[in-house]
Amino acid sequence: MQYLFSTRQWESKIVAARRIFLFLDFDGTLSPIVKHPYQAHILPSLKTYLRSLSCRKNIVIVIISGRHREDLIRRVGIRRGIIYFGWHGLKVRFRGKKRFLNTLVQIKAVVKKWRRHCSHLVKEDKEIILALHYRNLNSQEKECWQKLKKELARFAAAGSIQLGFGKKVLEIRPPQKFGKGEVVKELLKSKCRGREDLAIYIGDDLTDEEGFCALREKDLTIRVGYKKNSAARYFLRSTLEVEKVLGSLLNLKSEYN
Ligand SMILES: [Mg+2]
Repeated sequence: MQYLFSTRQWESKIVAARRIFLFLDFDGTLSPIVKHPYQAHILPSLKTYLRSLSCRKNIVIVIISGRHREDLIRRVGIRRGIIYFGWHGLKVRFRGKKRFLNTLVQIKAVVKKWRRHCSHLVKEDKEIILALHYRNLNSQEKECWQKLKKELARFAAAGSIQLGFGKKVLEIRPPQKFGKGEVVKELLKSKCRGREDLAIYIGDDLTDEEGFCALREKDLTIRVGYKKNSAARYFLRSTLEVEKVLGSLLNLKSEYN
């Protein structure tokens, strides 16, 4: 992994590209990581850049997040000119949804039972994904958390749910195969991405690794935060630097080149 601003190669790629596909994650990428998931908000300066970029015909912006799509749109606050995917790209209709929703009712009962002893565990209900944020647990609560995880692992072993791990968050997801990588591939295909087009993916978490892997060698894969075994080629030190990248994009890529 290389620090993005230690090189200028990426800038020439942007200038040379005919069209740019910009894939962005939300939490930890456009919004700094916060104590409580409900507090997350896009940095105002980032929003200004995004708004300008969303008007460019030669730039396609796609935001993919694990959040509910409506929640995501509300937090970004720009409705037009951006393509949004919530639930890590899971489709609203998927096979086995009814069965999964029944399992989710049982899971919620299990979670409720353990949350009595684990009051700092934050539950985020995203309709078909249930996220448990364990960032704020104290040492006594951690024991209960381990027990709860064991119970959830049994559901996962039976194949009725899938567990997804992120930054201090455990997600209970449908067992179907889906993810950010699939979204990226499908979108690039539907927009007939050509050889002269450049794709950029910026993300910070495990789910974004699939997105990095879905791009070509010559595309730009950028992780917010250094991680030894990441599939991304470059890294940024913070969300503030994402702003710098978007600013450069705006300057380097005018409406006409
Ligand atoms: Mg993230």
